[in-house]
Amino acid sequence: MTNKPIYVTQPSLPILQEYNELLKQIWESKHIANNGPFHRQFEKELCNYLKIPYISLFSNGTLALITALQALRITGEVITTPYSFVATTHALHWNGIKPVFCDINEHDYNINADKIEALITPKTTAIMPVHVYGNPCDNNKIQKIADIYGLKIIYDAAHAFGVEKNGESILNWGDLSILSFHATKTFNTVEGGAIVTKDEILKTRIDYLKNFGFADETTVIGYGINAKMNELIAAYGLLQLKTIDENIRKRQDKVNLYRNLFQNTKGITFLPDFENIKHNYTYFPIFIDKNKFGKTRDEVYNLLKEHNIYARRYFYPLISQFNAYKELPTAAKENLPVATQITEQVLSLPLFAELENENIQRIVKIINE
Ligand SMILES: *Cc1c(COP(=O)(O)O)cnc(C)c1O
Repeated sequence: MTNKPIYVTQPSLPILQEYNELLKQIWESKHIANNGPFHRQFEKELCNYLKIPYISLFSNGTLALITALQALRITGEVITTPYSFVATTHALHWNGIKPVFCDINEHDYNINADKIEALITPKTTAIMPVHVYGNPCDNNKIQKIADIYGLKIIYDAAHAFGVEKNGESILNWGDLSILSFHATKTFNTVEGGAIVTKDEILKTRIDYLKNFGFADETTVIGYGINAKMNELIAAYGLLQLKTIDENIRKRQDKVNLYRNLFQNTKGITFLPDFENIKHNYTYFPIFIDKNKFGKTRDEVYNLLKEHNIYARRYFYPLISQFNAYKELPTAAKENLPVATQITEQVLSLPLFAELENENIQRIVKIINE
């Protein structure tokens, strides 16, 4: 076996010749940005594939999050999870909103819906949950709270491309959902993102906001930003849609192999497939209980590194522990006992469509021995 480094992920790319064909068309038309033909076609095909009514494409997921909050005029305080990628909370800060951290639950590590209500104040205007690892939040409970208190829900669905519950897209939940198509995600467009909405007029507003707020040549409807996806990326994305199902199928096989190999390892747990859910197998996080396993998560992380295998601690530290946020009243560890425990245990192992099964066996062997 070679000593070639194995990273936590490796992007799947479209076939270069096919991409060249589309690039030729772009070179001929000279339409390289601003809602061109590939942009429109990519939106249409994404709506079909994802089973959603409307989507607005963005240059990345973070700008989609920031714009989603602008689109709904969210202000004051927003209740969110500390167990996510830092962009979730940064998007609130960029809108001048105070993040309020809610602990996660013990079965899927998503926001604990039973703990949301106690965090609502007169300043609360919205809830921003994350479908972490692509596992769906408890939307029924969250929506009920939002309805009673008059709050909006914006889902950070960056991990949830193609995830369905009972045959329906979870991207239709809440008021808006945002996606990320970053290189490290299951569906990538190099960089990219989107906002999903069920409301045609809201989509129009979002499309204005991502283009400086321009509704026409002389009308600006708000504090818009430049967050448009360009034609080169939209064409790349169209090709990615052709292989995404196969990509997810391959990932599922890898995840099942990992699960089988770890089945009898004491002190290592992992998340199961949940009932009635179509998963996308975006990550394979394991959770290491040092008392039962005999080694800490960081010892395992470093051991793999010595073998040129780069697992990642998704998500560590908690967002609430970064300097920017740790002084917030809800950032205290005592308020977030489950998240505080899980962030110390988690290690996301390499997972991508082209990861060889022998390498999975090797990774598990290194850990188990
Ligand atoms: C990747 C990610 C983002 C940010 O998306 P970008 O496209 O990288 O800007 C936001 N939230 C979560 C949970 C993510 O994993």
